[in-house]
Amino acid sequence: MQLIDGKAISSEIQKELEAQVKERKAQGKKIPHLVAILVGNVGASLSYVNAKVKACEEIGFESTLIRFEESVTEETLLNKVRALNEDNNIDGFIVQLPLPKHIDELKITQAIDPLKDVDGFHPQNLGNMMLNLPGFLPATPMGILELIKRMKIETEGKNCVIIGRSNIVGMPLSVMLGRNTYPGNCTVTLAHSKTKNLAEICKNADILIAAIGRPNFVKAAMVKKGAVIIDVGTTRVEDSSRERGWRLVGDVDFENVSPICSFITPVPGGVGPMTIASLMMNTLKALELKSK
Ligand code: NAP
Repeated sequence: MQLIDGKAISSEIQKELEAQVKERKAQGKKIPHLVAILVGNVGASLSYVNAKVKACEEIGFESTLIRFEESVTEETLLNKVRALNEDNNIDGFIVQLPLPKHIDELKITQAIDPLKDVDGFHPQNLGNMMLNLPGFLPATPMGILELIKRMKIETEGKNCVIIGRSNIVGMPLSVMLGRNTYPGNCTVTLAHSKTKNLAEICKNADILIAAIGRPNFVKAAMVKKGAVIIDVGTTRVEDSSRERGWRLVGDVDFENVSPICSFITPVPGGVGPMTIASLMMNTLKALELKSK
């Protein structure tokens, strides 16, 4: 079994980006500027946003964190999005999801200028992704493809089972891995909570991707010998042995699955850091597109 070290691969990408930023600086060109909007005080969202801001600092991007109270109105948030769309100094921005229930996430996502939508959630970018046209790919699926590429994992003709059909992970990933390219050319099955005989379907997978948010859901009995396992799930579970009182657990029973598979991503340190690396790649791309 080979561990897919997302942390190491993402820092490789960060170094590549850092070099590009230095080159831009030396040529007197603009430095990418990413803005993250965070609403409320949910611990997980706060730590994701902090990690994104920290990555910007490490690479040499400018970054700005804009925070709103949980009670912020939809209109105030929309006005902020519109202002960022107009601000020429801002190359890309994200609104950290989930948003409080009184705010329509789709309305906010649709208000973002697709050319600054570095999370790749705008319908226009998802549509471009479907048609394989230029645009921003959603960060987590893009990071998974990058892991597959850098680990030189074969995908052509492989049976790929994705569990979870969210708009930000499973659904776009199913399109991307089904394309006639590399990574791609998989025969993709997109499974969800209504799927029958899930264990049997998983057992047939050469590449098994779990994106459901249920700790240790994928058991060794569901995994074919030699399969590639990508674990997207990140759930905080209580852990009194840790100072912070919790730890992150993936969707895959790592201890029992890792001995039988060929490649596996750990949680943490697998897909998570790659999501951030992809966001950074998209931000630089947003600036480069603007400068053309
Ligand atoms: P989500 O919106 O939470 O939806 C979960 C998906 O899993 C749904 O499609 C659901 O099916 C399916 N599902 C739930 N229980 C199932 C079961 N017992 N059997 C089969 N399918 C089941 O998905 P998400 O936003 O993609 O998040 C999934 C996980 O990935 C979470 O742990 C999240 O924290 C993590 N995540 C990690 C990253 C990262 O960077 N590492 C990024 C994004 C998400 P239905 O559609 O039928 O309800």
